[in-house]
Amino acid sequence: MAINYLYPDFEVLRDTQRCITCRVCERQCANEVHSFDKDTNRMVADDSKCVNCHRCVSLCPTHALKIVKTDHCFKANANWKGEVIQNIYRQAGSGGVLLASMGTPKDYPVYWDKMLINASQVTNPSIDPLREPMETRTYLGQKTPKIKRDENGKIITDTPPQLTLNIPIMFSAMSYGSISYNAHKSLALAAEKLGIYYNTGEGGLHEDFYTYGKNTIVQVASGRFGVHPDYLNTGAAIEIKMGQGAKPGIGGHLPGAKIGEDISKTRMIPEHADAISPAPHHDIYSIEDLRQLVYALKEATEYKKPIIVKVAAVHNISAIASGIARSGADIIAIDGFRGGTGAAPAMIRDNVGIPIELALASVDRRLRQEGIRNNVSLVVGGSIRSSADVIKAIALGADAIYVATSALLALGCHLCRTCQLGKCNWGIATQRPELVKRLNPEIGSERLVNLITAWNHEIKEMMGGMGINSIEALRGNRLMLRGIGLTETELEILGIMHAGQ
Ligand code: SF4
Ligand code: SF4
Repeated sequence: MAINYLYPDFEVLRDTQRCITCRVCERQCANEVHSFDKDTNRMVADDSKCVNCHRCVSLCPTHALKIVKTDHCFKANANWKGEVIQNIYRQAGSGGVLLASMGTPKDYPVYWDKMLINASQVTNPSIDPLREPMETRTYLGQKTPKIKRDENGKIITDTPPQLTLNIPIMFSAMSYGSISYNAHKSLALAAEKLGIYYNTGEGGLHEDFYTYGKNTIVQVASGRFGVHPDYLNTGAAIEIKMGQGAKPGIGGHLPGAKIGEDISKTRMIPEHADAISPAPHHDIYSIEDLRQLVYALKEATEYKKPIIVKVAAVHNISAIASGIARSGADIIAIDGFRGGTGAAPAMIRDNVGIPIELALASVDRRLRQEGIRNNVSLVVGGSIRSSADVIKAIALGADAIYVATSALLALGCHLCRTCQLGKCNWGIATQRPELVKRLNPEIGSERLVNLITAWNHEIKEMMGGMGINSIEALRGNRLMLRGIGLTETELEILGIMHAGQ
């Protein structure tokens, strides 16, 4: 129907002088954009199918391709933007919820970019990380309130279970099902090499990956997919997922088409049936209920594993975190509203939740005010894009950082934001065998190791510049931050002064 026609978002530009009609682009594109026209002996493109994933651009041997955003436009204005108009046409045509993936593209303030880091000059001299030791090792878990010794002075304090990270960065939850076997393997291999952790997400743990258990955080979500005693005992820590930044307040949905034999076995659900995890945990209606699950999991693992409770950053996050800290959890993970996802309703992704920077600052302050900050560690995620974001998060009070989108970018993701279609041309957000094999886990893990190693060098450089030689001394050290272009309220919530003060 003509009324349903929308001009494509992207146009494929092919330099016909360079094109040698090798048809690589045709073979590489799972969206079937390119084809060979026998009548004209030329390659043609169906722009309407292009998601701008750049697979063809990267693999074209003669660099004959580029993708451009269309300059076709609606008669938009500040209120009725082109995207808003298109969404209404789409929903009037389909009657369905608009689905999207990865983090929100909306232009909300990015507070990381409105904070500047301090550096030493003259007094409190800077430290040269090339010549002096810098400690980036981090321990996550409850801190021991008092060190006890026996009559001979030997320490006899029982330390609660801890996670030890060589670098204060972990790969955050991405389930097998939403991402591919090879993507999971890349994360597991990289976590092992880096001495950090990756996270199963809510999809269970494939039996091949039990060998990486000491670098694995296993998740228990509302659907309980793949949860059994061996799974719990294999991981280094257990994460109870109460919420996710990209879709606070709703459950997950993996379409049946993605649930083949392997995923059905790992998740312990039937093949080709939609995997829908409920919005709430049906056994948790209060902090007391959460406490029951925390202790059930501790009991099941003989009190040897730290328990993480993951929540989305929402309006009353500091009160929620205070409750979690009292539930017996060892670590609180908070996911900001810019966090990525394999699939979410676009309206929820783009309008629900709050920025992680504000959530983190208010949680850290509240836990300190209540004298319970040492009862838990804080891990934050939700669009951490660089080593500078890591430094700023730690200075705002985080113990460690979760990254996911940055990790996927290292694996080749080009942020086309169509993961929900399951046709990822880079072999990441797909279960199609011919696409999955495009991602080589050895190369993938090497790129992840490179990325995190590079960030670690930069973290050490920035800490050295501040005259700080350990992550411990940076944690919650807000004097190392200044705001730029922020209102009084924003500065107050972040607990920092404005630049120049
Ligand atoms: S990959 Fe490049 S050279 Fe080959 S057919 Fe496509 S545009 Fe032409
Ligand atoms: S993972 Fe794949 S489908 Fe998802 S945004 Fe990245 S390139 Fe696109």
